[in-house]
Formats: sequence, C-alpha cells, structure tokens
Amino acid sequence: MSDVLERFLRYVQVDSQSNAANEEQVPSSPCEHEMARMLGEELVGLGCTDVVVDEHAYVTATFAASAGAEDAPALMLCAHMDSASDAPASGIKPHIVHYEGGELFSGYYTDGDRIVSTPETVPDLVKFVGQDIVVTDGTTLLGADDKAGIAEICALLKRLKDNPELPHPTIKVAFVPDEEIGHGAALLDIEKLGAKYGYTVDGHTLGGINYECFSASMATVKIEGIMVHPGSAKGVMINAITLATEFLSQIPIDERPETTEGRQGFYHPLEIKGAGYQTVITLILRDFDSNVLAKREQKLRDIADAMNEKYGAGMVTVTIREQYRNMAEHFEGLEFMIDYACDANREVGIKPFIEPVRGGTDGAQLTFRGLPCPNLATGAYNLHSIREFIPVPSLEKTVDMLTALVAKFAV
Ligand SMILES: [Zn+2]
Repeated sequence: MSDVLERFLRYVQVDSQSNAANEEQVPSSPCEHEMARMLGEELVGLGCTDVVVDEHAYVTATFAASAGAEDAPALMLCAHMDSASDAPASGIKPHIVHYEGGELFSGYYTDGDRIVSTPETVPDLVKFVGQDIVVTDGTTLLGADDKAGIAEICALLKRLKDNPELPHPTIKVAFVPDEEIGHGAALLDIEKLGAKYGYTVDGHTLGGINYECFSASMATVKIEGIMVHPGSAKGVMINAITLATEFLSQIPIDERPETTEGRQGFYHPLEIKGAGYQTVITLILRDFDSNVLAKREQKLRDIADAMNEKYGAGMVTVTIREQYRNMAEHFEGLEFMIDYACDANREVGIKPFIEPVRGGTDGAQLTFRGLPCPNLATGAYNLHSIREFIPVPSLEKTVDMLTALVAKFAV
C-alpha cells in the first residue's frame, strides 16, 4: 500500500466534521482538536520543525528547504481538516473497490437499495476502469474533502524527507479547521507563517487549477409604500409588496443562479422582508468580471430610478456593498504560479485545466490578505456526499504533481 493511501485511510477514520450551528467557536467541533493534535504529531514525525497546534486547532509547521534552496522564498501548502456537514461524517469506514466499469458500488441504504455512482452521473468514471477506488460504506461521506489534500501534502513531505536530493524550498504547512462553514484560513497568521506564495490542495477533478472566483456585491433594495384603508385605497395606496414584485420582475430571467453556469454571473434574491408600508429585498450579485458586476449594480439603480419616476421620488432606494473581488485580479505579475501548476501537472501526465470557482475559496481569502494562493485538485469526486470517492492512482498522481511543483520553487 502506498504511503499516501495508508495516510488517507487513517486520516478519514478520525472524526472532524465541523458544526455550522456553532460558528461562534473555532474550531466549531471539539473533535477537530483531536484531528489537529494527531496531525501535529504526524508533522513532527515527518521531520518538520516549529510544529504548532494552537487553541483554534490550526496546525502549522516548517519543512526545511533542500540543500541549495535555503534562500528561495517559502511556499505554503494548505488543506482543511474538517469534513462537510451535508452528510453524516462520524465513524467513516473507507474501503477499496476494484472498479471494472458500470456502477461504482458504495453500500446499501437502510431499505436495502444499492448506493452507487454511475458514468451517467460522473462521466469521468470511465477513465477509472481497472483502478482501485476508495469509497465509503454508504452511511457517511468519505472525507476526501479535504483529508485527501492533507494526506497528499504529508505524503509529499515523507517523500522529500526520504529523498533529500529532491529540490524544494522551505515548505510551510497549514492545516486549518472549519473551512466548510466559512472560516477556513481566517485565523491563519500569515505574517508569522512567513510564506511568500501558497497553494491550497482542496479541489476535485485531477488537473483542475482554480485562481478565479466571483467578484461579489450585496444589494439592499428598500421600498417604501403608502398604506391607507383598503376600502378607500383607489388611486392612493402604493403597496411596497407589489412594488417589490415589480422590481424583481425586471431582473433578467436568464441571469439567475438557476439559469447560469460556467463564467456567467447572476442576480440572486436572497431575502424579502416587510409589509405593505415597507419591504426590503436583499440580493447578491456575482460575476467573474468586475466591470460586468458594476453593470449589474447599475441595472438595479436604473430599475429604482424608473420606479421612482413612476411612483414618486425616494420610494425605492438601492444600497450596494462590495463583498469580495475575483482573486484573479491579484495574480497580475504572478501568472508564473499558474504556469508552474500547469507544468507540474503535465510533467506527471495530467492534463491541466483552469476552472473558475462559482463562489469564494479559502485561497481567495488568503490571496486578498497578501498570500497569493491558487487551489489545486485532490482527485476526489462527489464531495459532501455518501457517494464521495477517490481513485487510488489519483491520490498517488497528486503527490507526484506536488513533487514536481515544489521543485519549481527551489530556485
Ligand atoms: Zn474542501
């Protein structure tokens, strides 16, 4: 059994599901402390120095540069230790199936129905015929998101430790809790960590590289109404609820989350609250291109202007707040980080592809804070699901890819 597989199977059996109901505390689940403590010990065993497991279950460590690369800037590799709460994640029992094509069988539902993945739902499955694949027993998710990332980083360090001739810069390891509930690397002290560049290993399909995320704004549309007795309302009443539907009806139907994909942005009404005398709509706006996002913001203002013209000044007001920006805007002059990742994939026989993330990422947050951090694939599929799986060769290939990648930073 390969080192990365042995680690992966061991790590997923340690419970570390984050708890969305306890966002006040970091970590959100006490079990993440257990996971953090174990990872701290693993890193000591791998020859790391400065191993710190802090009170928030952040694990950081330094792996010394290879001979001759001591002056190269330090490179961070980051993965998250928590598992998602979209499926049960306690008492995970991973097992390996040899995939012969057709259905990939995980286990049984309590009513006896088979839990399977099929090439219809996961077209990539056809690439894995003849491979060993790690699945769950169907009662839990697998936790490859992101224990695969953790196992791949640890297996990389083991390889570098055992093969001192392999070139690499100082590697700063960061294993963080609570990514799935939106904290992720929020409390990571990047100043203290001291890395100049970084990658998260938290993607999915092999070869995927993410360094673009949405630019995001939130709009609050406040609509005033004029309420009178409905019996004598003719020509007088202006119902804010009716105006809210009029406002929303002017948002293009083909620019909603449910009608867009890929690089298309959208308007998304999140909440509508109020009564006839006042109604407030909250929308989020998303686009990969900040200029197009600005046009969407303007569209809302234009709708408000037209309605104010019709119903009276000040009836509809639009307030827009910037949330975050596409991290790609921070990679100007750092394109080499994407090129290195593409080349490292190609060198080990993986076809790289750049995939924009329709959301934010942990790496985006770090990038905005000054540590540029694209995201790399782990090789896993069906994340957050009882059908989650990862082919064994994908785990192993990712370690090869990381080996090739860190070598590029050794100069
Ligand atoms: Zn993840």
